[in-house]
Amino acid sequence: MGLARYACDPAQSRGRRWPEAPAPTRTEFQRDRDRIVHSTAFRRLVYKTQVFLNHEGDLFRTRLTHSLEVAQLARSIARSVDLNEDLVEAIALAHDLGHTPFGHAGQDALHDCMQGHGGFEHNLQSLRVVDKLEERYPRHDGLNLTFETREGILKHCSRANAEKLEAQEPGGVGRRFIERTQPSLEAQLCNLADEIAYNAHDIDDGVRSGLLTMEQLGAVPLFEQFHRAVLAEYPQLRGRRVLFETIRRMLSAQVYDVIDATRAAVERADPADVDAVRAAPPLVNFSDAMGAMSKALKHFLLHNLYRHSQVMEVTGHAQEVVRELFAAYMAHPKEMPADFAACANIARSVADYIAGMTDRFAAREHARLTGRNLLA
Ligand code: MG
Repeated sequence: MGLARYACDPAQSRGRRWPEAPAPTRTEFQRDRDRIVHSTAFRRLVYKTQVFLNHEGDLFRTRLTHSLEVAQLARSIARSVDLNEDLVEAIALAHDLGHTPFGHAGQDALHDCMQGHGGFEHNLQSLRVVDKLEERYPRHDGLNLTFETREGILKHCSRANAEKLEAQEPGGVGRRFIERTQPSLEAQLCNLADEIAYNAHDIDDGVRSGLLTMEQLGAVPLFEQFHRAVLAEYPQLRGRRVLFETIRRMLSAQVYDVIDATRAAVERADPADVDAVRAAPPLVNFSDAMGAMSKALKHFLLHNLYRHSQVMEVTGHAQEVVRELFAAYMAHPKEMPADFAACANIARSVADYIAGMTDRFAAREHARLTGRNLLA
């Protein structure tokens, strides 16, 4: 694998918080990826909602399959622009580790519950999972990942939380949210690959669920242009295959667009190394035309899928589950496992405990503690 001078080189990593001897056969970023795959939080992703609740159907995306799709897209792009594929894979597989059960609904509810206790941000929680909550090593909490992987995991962060991070770890992963600089190209790429992945798979899941129709999607230029091309080439084709072929072409077009636009931006900025990348404006991007089409698709999904009355109804119940779980554990911390109950900051401990839950465990715990079954 050729590595561009502006890519992250594992031999030049800013290192781990607890220094470790190098592994005999794996690079530092490969080790990070392996640690993530073996973590408890990673295995839980299979039972966490992306858009549709986990029990609504076996074929919808979960956080796990979403993360795998992000890793596939990001690696495929990284290879073409000579970025570090292993780092991209590590970041992509870890990027949603901090997500609560029930997708964004769960996160919003938990954030509301945590008002007055420092709030809840899922990106920061992903970092907290790999830095602190995983308990797998004899001498430290967390997975002790490299700076570069942690930098990529912390995709967004509020100013207030960035300052807290900076106080704990001066010059660490919080710094860029204070200085308003960029992360590595590998991190920028995972961010965009995340968007490409969910835009495409939410169309697929939306149609599969019956909440979206192909006719409605005709109003989305990015979809319609490939849909028309597919039907022109295969006039007899019907149903699923039309949808899949359209999505496949949409994905390819976006991937090639990002590759071209990124190559051009990197050529213009000509960064000498990854620190020059961090100081430059964002360099991994769509072309303007594709960016506008992607935005229109997002807008369509927001109004027609994420805010669909059927999705909102389930979302409302899921938020109630999270709020009532939070209240129950705050009132009776001993209902949590002993190490969570024993924490000095009980609100944060309750948030950590709830955030770690899978959808079905949260629903079961809620039924156990309240006697009500909201998500049957
Ligand atoms: Mg994601």
